[in-house]
Amino acid sequence: GSESPVDSLSLVGLSEEKLRFDHTNNYVLKKKLQVWCRLPDDEWGLGEIQSISGNNANILLPEGRALAVLVENLLPSNPQVLDGVDDLIQLSYLNEPSVLHNLKCRYVHDMVYTRAGPVLVAINPFKEMLLYGDDHVAAYREKTTDNPHVYAIADSAFNGTMRDGVNQSIIISGESGAGKTETAKIAMQYLAALGGGSGIEYEVLQTNPILEAFGNAKTLRNDNSSRFGKLIDIHFSTSARICGARIQTSYVIHEQSRVVQRAKGERSYHVFYQLCAGAPASLRDSIQFTEKLNLKAANNYEYLKQSDCLRIDNVDDALRFHKLTEALDIVRVSKEDQESVFAMLAAVLWLGNIEYLVIDNENHVEVISSKACCTIDFKCCTAVTNVAKLMGCKVPDLMLTLSTHKIQAGNDVVIQKLTLPQAISTRDALAKSIYSSLFDWLVEQINRSLEKNSFEQFCINYANERLQQHFNRHLFKLEQEEYIQDGIDWTKVEFVDNTECLNLFEKVLYETNGFLEKNGDPLHSDSIQLLLSCNCQLPQLFAAHLLNQSQKPVSPLRRLGSVESQKQSVATKFKGQLFNLMQRLESTTPHFIRCIKPNGKQLPGIYENDLVLQQLRCCGVLEVVRISRSGYPSRMTHQQFAARYGFLLLEDVQFQDPLSVSVAILQQFNILPEMYQVGYTKLFFRTGQIAALEDIRNHT
Ligand code: ATP
Ligand code: MG
Repeated sequence: GSESPVDSLSLVGLSEEKLRFDHTNNYVLKKKLQVWCRLPDDEWGLGEIQSISGNNANILLPEGRALAVLVENLLPSNPQVLDGVDDLIQLSYLNEPSVLHNLKCRYVHDMVYTRAGPVLVAINPFKEMLLYGDDHVAAYREKTTDNPHVYAIADSAFNGTMRDGVNQSIIISGESGAGKTETAKIAMQYLAALGGGSGIEYEVLQTNPILEAFGNAKTLRNDNSSRFGKLIDIHFSTSARICGARIQTSYVIHEQSRVVQRAKGERSYHVFYQLCAGAPASLRDSIQFTEKLNLKAANNYEYLKQSDCLRIDNVDDALRFHKLTEALDIVRVSKEDQESVFAMLAAVLWLGNIEYLVIDNENHVEVISSKACCTIDFKCCTAVTNVAKLMGCKVPDLMLTLSTHKIQAGNDVVIQKLTLPQAISTRDALAKSIYSSLFDWLVEQINRSLEKNSFEQFCINYANERLQQHFNRHLFKLEQEEYIQDGIDWTKVEFVDNTECLNLFEKVLYETNGFLEKNGDPLHSDSIQLLLSCNCQLPQLFAAHLLNQSQKPVSPLRRLGSVESQKQSVATKFKGQLFNLMQRLESTTPHFIRCIKPNGKQLPGIYENDLVLQQLRCCGVLEVVRISRSGYPSRMTHQQFAARYGFLLLEDVQFQDPLSVSVAILQQFNILPEMYQVGYTKLFFRTGQIAALEDIRNHT
C-alpha cells in the first residue's frame, strides 16, 4: 500500500530551501511530522504527514481534510515549544511560513514586538497598548524585563551614548502606515524620561504635534502620513540630561503638490483644517477685517474641498489646533509669529479661491476681482483682496503676477498674458512655495529654541534602507561580543557570506525621481518679486530664501532651460543632504526598528499573511535572521537546559550541578561537538539542535 514507514528524504538539496538552510540544518521527512504545506490557494497550512511515497506525501490538515502534495510543497515547521519565541533566531527552522506564524502567534497575544537578531520587528497594533508609560520605562531602565520593546532599543542606545561615549542612532523603517512616526515618539518618550530634568525634554516632545500638523496629512494608506523625512538629534550632557536637540527635515521630500492637489479621499496638510476649525474668534472674525485672517470653514476653500475629504474619523481638528498653539508656545514661537504663520496659511487658502476669466480666443486670462470671496459673506471682499491683505502686497501687483509674465527683450520689457493653464500653475506654484517656505522657517524657529550647547549627537529617526550595509557591520560585532563574554571561542563561529544580503539591501534605493517631479516647478521670478514687495516680514524672508536657493534669479527669457537647471540643483541638493545624513549616521552605532503594517485597513486584530510577508521580504528580515543564526543562535542557561532535558538521562543526576547535567545530556545523545559550545553561563547551539532535542524529548 501507500504506507511506507521508513520512507524518508532530506530536504536539504531542494531548490527553494537551499537558500534558507545551512549544512547544520538537516531535516528528515517522516510520518507524523508536523509540516507547513503549500495549499492550492498558495497559503501555507500546518499539517501532519500521513504517508510518503517517493516525491508524494499525504498530509492531514487540522480540519480533518487530507491532501496529496509533492514534497517540494512542504517545509519544516518548528516544535510547539518554539511557538511565539521572542527572537526569530531561536527558530530551529527558518522559513517564511514559520516566521509569519511566529509573528502572528505573538501579535494575537498583543505582543507586537519581536527581535530578529539585533533588529526589532514592530507590528502596528492599530489600537492603544498598555505597554508604555512610567512603569514600563522603569522596568526597562532597571532591566526587570527583557521582552522585546522600543524601550529596550532606546535603552541600549542611551547606554551606548552615556556609558561608552559613542553616538548612537535609531533607524526606523517600514512602509506608509507601518508605525514609524509612532515608534519614534515612543523612543523619544523613553529618552525624555531618562534624560529629563532640564525641562528641554518637554520641548523636544512638543516638536511632534507641530511637525505633524505641518508635515502630515491623511492619505489613502495612513490617516496621519508623514510627507517629509526627518532626523531628530537629541543631545545629552555628560550628566545624562538632555541639553539640546535639532531637527533636520529633508525639504525635497516634503510634498508641496499636496497643498494644491491630491487624490480623492486624501487631505492636504492637517494644519489647514485645524486652523479653519479651531482658530479663535479673534482671528477668524471679520468685524475688524484689517487685522484678521477672515477665515471661513474648510469647505469654502477650493484647495481643501476638491478632494472630497475634509474630516478624519475620530480626529477633532479644533482640539488639535488648540494643542498646536500650546506646542508653539512651548517651543517659544511668539504669539505674534504664530499669527504671521496663520496669516500665511490663510493666504495660501485664499490663493486657491482666485479664479480667472478667459478674455480672448487664445485662452489668455485675467484675474476675476469682482466675485465675492465665499458663499457665506458677500459684503466683505474677494479672494484677491484677502490674499493681498494677508501678504501685504498691492492688489494690482498680485493680479498682474498671477496673470502675466515679464519678458526681457533686449532693453525692453514685454508683458505677456498667461494662458489659463499657465496662470493656474503660476498661482499654485506661489501657494506651494509659500507653504514650503513656511515649513522650513518654522523648523528653523524650533531649532533655534531647542539648540543649546550641543554635546554628543543622537540621531533618532531616519528611514533609509541603504544604511543596511552599515548595520551588517555592526551585527557581527554584537554577536562576537556575546560569545566573548560567555567565554566562547568566536573564531569557530563561521559567518555566512553576506554579500548576497548586501546586494539585496542595495535594491532598496531612494526613489528620487518621484519626489523631484512633485517639487519640480520652481517659482517664477515675477512671483519672487511680488513676495519681495510685500510689507509683511514672512513673505520677504521667503523671497530672500527662495532667491538664495536658486542662487541666481531666473531669467524669464530662458525660463524653460532654467526649470531644468533648477531641477538639477534640487537633485544635487537632495543627494548632498542624503550624503550628509549618511555621514552623520555612519559615525554612530545604529539600532534598527522595522515597522510592519499587519493590514491595509488600519484596523486592530487583522493579520494579513500576504501583506506581512511582502514587507518581511522587502526589508530582508529573513536574511538578517539567517546571518544572525549562522553562529550558535540558540542559547539556554545551564539551569534551563538541565531542567528541560535532565530527566532524559539514564543515570541519576539529582545532586549534580547544572553544568555537569548539561554536559551529560549532550554526551548521552551524541550531539556533535561542532553543533554546540559550552559557555560560562549558557550553552550555545547551532540551528536545528533544539528541535532535535525536543524531538527526543517528545518521543520519550
Ligand atoms: P508614514 O510613512 O505614512 O508616515 P508611519 O510609518 O509613520 O507612516 P504612523 O503614522 O506612525 O505610520 O502609524 C500609523 C497609525 O498606526 C498611527 O496613526 C496609529 O493609529 C497606529 N499606530 C502605529 N504605531 C502604533 C502603536 N505603537 N500603538 C498604537 N497605535 C499605533
Ligand atoms: Mg510617519
